[in-house]
Amino acid sequence: MFMLVPLLLLAGLGWRGMQMSRMAAQERAATEATRTLEAILPAVQRGWSELRRTTPTLRSYEVPPEPAPAGDAQVRYQQALAAPGEEGMALLANLAEEEPEAVAESGVPLLPLVDWARLKREQEPDRWKAAVERVLRAAVESRPSILTPQLLGQVEGWVKEHAGAETAGSVIPAWRERWEREEAAREAVRENRSLLAERIAPLWLATAEGSWWAEMPAARGTEWKLIPREELERLASSARAEAAKSGMPTYLSLNLALGGVGLFPAAGEALARRAADALELSVVLSDATELFAQQRQQTRWLAALLACGFAGAVAAFASMQHALARERELGRMKSDFVSSVSHELRAPIASVRLLAENLANGSVAGEERKSEYHAFIAEECQRLSGLIENVLDFARIEQRRKSYVLEETDVAALTRETIRSATPRARQRGQTIESEIGRIEPPPVCDGLAVRQALLNLLENAIKFSPEGSVIQVRLAPVAQGGWELSVQDRGIGIPKREQARIFDRFYRVESELRRETQGAGIGLAIVRHVAEAHGAKITVASEPGAGATFTLHFPANDSCRVS
Ligand code: ADP
Repeated sequence: MFMLVPLLLLAGLGWRGMQMSRMAAQERAATEATRTLEAILPAVQRGWSELRRTTPTLRSYEVPPEPAPAGDAQVRYQQALAAPGEEGMALLANLAEEEPEAVAESGVPLLPLVDWARLKREQEPDRWKAAVERVLRAAVESRPSILTPQLLGQVEGWVKEHAGAETAGSVIPAWRERWEREEAAREAVRENRSLLAERIAPLWLATAEGSWWAEMPAARGTEWKLIPREELERLASSARAEAAKSGMPTYLSLNLALGGVGLFPAAGEALARRAADALELSVVLSDATELFAQQRQQTRWLAALLACGFAGAVAAFASMQHALARERELGRMKSDFVSSVSHELRAPIASVRLLAENLANGSVAGEERKSEYHAFIAEECQRLSGLIENVLDFARIEQRRKSYVLEETDVAALTRETIRSATPRARQRGQTIESEIGRIEPPPVCDGLAVRQALLNLLENAIKFSPEGSVIQVRLAPVAQGGWELSVQDRGIGIPKREQARIFDRFYRVESELRRETQGAGIGLAIVRHVAEAHGAKITVASEPGAGATFTLHFPANDSCRVS
């Protein structure tokens, strides 16, 4: 647990650092937002005033027109139409000048009709252009009415006839287009008449044809300034371009809103705002991912670091636990070893003492009996010295002091002799040791004593772990490429698969009923393995529980035999 404390501390510090770094980035973004607004505000204000100034004032008209009582102007108009040539022209000009607001009986404005009559009478081609301009301006701009579309058609026909189709094409469509555009705006005004009657403040008007920002100048009810949304969007685009030019970072976006309606609004938290009249400019954080990219990267690194640290701590903890468990196990095995060795020593010493005492006090009668006792004593002593040899060898191996003497060895003779020395023990248990001893040529170079000790240990185990009366088989045989094998096969209790790798570990003994009955210190196979490895040989075991075991030493050819 204590290993996690620095990790938790690191995580806390890292998190705090991240927070501060995020806050700093946010502050930087807010500063940039304010700077951008300050930089572009004058240009946007200029653009906005310009747009309002250049948007033409829109006059509305009644649909249908309200018929007017007959008046002086109408009479003058009829007289002017009736008058010939120059005189009629002069009368029409006077009427236009003096009665610009006059209406015909039908209620439509008189001025476009007067100007149309003047155009039709115009003889001077030099003045046609101005006359056409005059009638169109009156019909479309200053005195619009339901007559205008018809008048536009007539003027077009007249221009085509008198000045050609090309001139008509260069003049009329622009006016017609303006008429249609303004008609759409007028339609919006008509549709929202009740709304407009209630307020003076500018507002958005929208119809299926489009939407407009409507401002009402003083002459309320008849004149309007309707700024089409497209124009405002153009203003917003140029403001955005201006912002980008002023170096606004790409994670910020400029929003323009008019009367609370955004023109291409970008989503995000607003970092700065400025108002210019009804226009509101704001800079929003539209791409937080980009702004906090560095912080995210740092977070990822911190997380990776913490994960590694955590994994390391867990691994260290696990390996510590493992080492502790092994240490404990080794301690237990060592104490087992000491008690096993003591036990192994005590039994033969006790029987030797008993036999020797019997011999000494003359209680053994007859020569045959005496020599039996002697043979027994010799046998027990041999077992004792074998055990002591094992323990001493093991100690030398542990202290890395064990040395080997390599020389040409008659391994066949050595095998026979070792079998002979193990035979009395086997016989005690009614077992027989069979052998199949081949010739190994050239004579192997090895440490004869060590090989003998290894074989003796294997035989001891075979005897211990096989039932009484069973057969043990020893085989010495050459193998391909100059190597040779020495194996011991028994028909004993066998070794479970999962234990087979561990039995060569020092002090390790397979847990079983029989093991508790059999004596041993758990170092025999450790010595065998050391001898094998020292010769560059390998020891293998093939076994099935209940079906016996075969231990084989695989020696390489002389030239690859080595001693380490
Ligand atoms: P010891 O024989 O003194 O217990 P060893 O190192 O010689 O120690 O053997 C280790 C363990 O391997 C034995 O305790 C036994 O469980 C198992 N073993 C060794 N040889 C045989 C065998 N031939 N048959 C069955 N088990 C064996």
